[in-house]
Amino acid sequence: MKTELILQSLEAKHPGEHEYLQAVKEVLHSIEDVYNEHPEFEKAAIIERIVEPDRVFTFKVPWVDDNGKVKVNIGYRVQFNNAIGPYKGGTRFHASVTLSSLKFLGFEQTFKNALTTLPMGGGKGGADFSIRGKSATEVMRFCQAYMLELWRHIGADTDVPAGDVGVGAREIGYMYGMYKKLACENTGAFTGKGLDYGGSLIRPEATGFGAIYFAVEMLKEKGLDLKGKTVALSGFGNVAWGAALKASQLGAKIITISGPDGYVYDPDGISGEKIDYLLELRATGEDIVEPYAERYGVKFFSGKRPWQQKADIALPCAIQNELDKNDAQMLIDSGVTCVAEVSNMGCTAEAVDLMVEKGILFAPGKAVNAGGVATSGLEMSQNAMHLRWTAEEVDAKLHQIMNDIHEQCVVYGKQPGGYINYVKGANVAGFMKVAQAMMAQGIV
Ligand code: GLU
Repeated sequence: MKTELILQSLEAKHPGEHEYLQAVKEVLHSIEDVYNEHPEFEKAAIIERIVEPDRVFTFKVPWVDDNGKVKVNIGYRVQFNNAIGPYKGGTRFHASVTLSSLKFLGFEQTFKNALTTLPMGGGKGGADFSIRGKSATEVMRFCQAYMLELWRHIGADTDVPAGDVGVGAREIGYMYGMYKKLACENTGAFTGKGLDYGGSLIRPEATGFGAIYFAVEMLKEKGLDLKGKTVALSGFGNVAWGAALKASQLGAKIITISGPDGYVYDPDGISGEKIDYLLELRATGEDIVEPYAERYGVKFFSGKRPWQQKADIALPCAIQNELDKNDAQMLIDSGVTCVAEVSNMGCTAEAVDLMVEKGILFAPGKAVNAGGVATSGLEMSQNAMHLRWTAEEVDAKLHQIMNDIHEQCVVYGKQPGGYINYVKGANVAGFMKVAQAMMAQGIV
């Protein structure tokens, strides 16, 4: 494969889109060997087609704040690839949102969704809007204004958005309400909906639960158990909450959480009501974790990341590139056993290379956090059948899907010496499925 040439031409076409180029580079390097074994891929220009989104919508989102002032944000939806099913992926409302970040997320989503074994293509959307400091009515007006443009491009069988950073059940409710008013249909064009109007049990917990099911399988490969292990995790939102809940149920000890303001170290472990408190912290909309330290009398490290604490397992659960090479080195020096990326592309490319080189048990977000979108897929199934499964049924399906994803990573990622390269395994397994589906459907 002419990887470097393809990357150079992409860089020339999309200058400055660093996160997108970073995500593409990682996948292209991982799949080089299998790609070369399939000359038909080159003939069909699979790489050139798979790295470009099918289409991108960019639109202004004007809305009025509580003081009557008119504000304008930029909204996006990236419909990346629908070879294996309708476009599917979250919506991110965060000040850092750009076309580049949504293209990287949509690209990753395409392979992640392929790994889930469910028929879902890849997409992602969002806006450079931060919910921090906004009143509930401002958030509602913004969600409605965002939907006023987007509604015509989505639908249960075309493109199904969900939540992501800054978008939880409240925002989904506001967007779905407006969508239904405009589209006049009720088939479930969103996932992550409230339980009273078509949502699925376990969807709120799914990303975190799935990540822990995956980490348990990683440890098992090495003959290890999660029970009794210390876990450093970053973030304190929905994903971190679900991961903390399942990890503590399985006997691990969570010792850190973090926010944009710094991190909290709780040597006694974050369990029970302390985990419930994360939901309260999130609901304040302040985006800070220091109040946890004040409430429970533990240490807060302002402006620092949790990776400086010694832990058996590290789980980045916040945002892309939140764990860099220095952080990885600190974790390695203090004897970390397993790093499972729960956020999308949570580790920088240099951090990943270092961990793989040192033989650390490391798995990428597109495998570890796939439980969220997988359970969204289960929500779509329930909506289509006009049924609701019990929490036990959904959880059992989620657990099975995570075990299957782990198995695919082992099949495609096991190296001659026995080391499992989960980055390669996840990329190759996801790529092969999408590429084969594209081949079967001609040049479209
Ligand atoms: N935002 C989540 C992700 O990155 C969930 C997407 C979904 O449920 O569609 O996979």
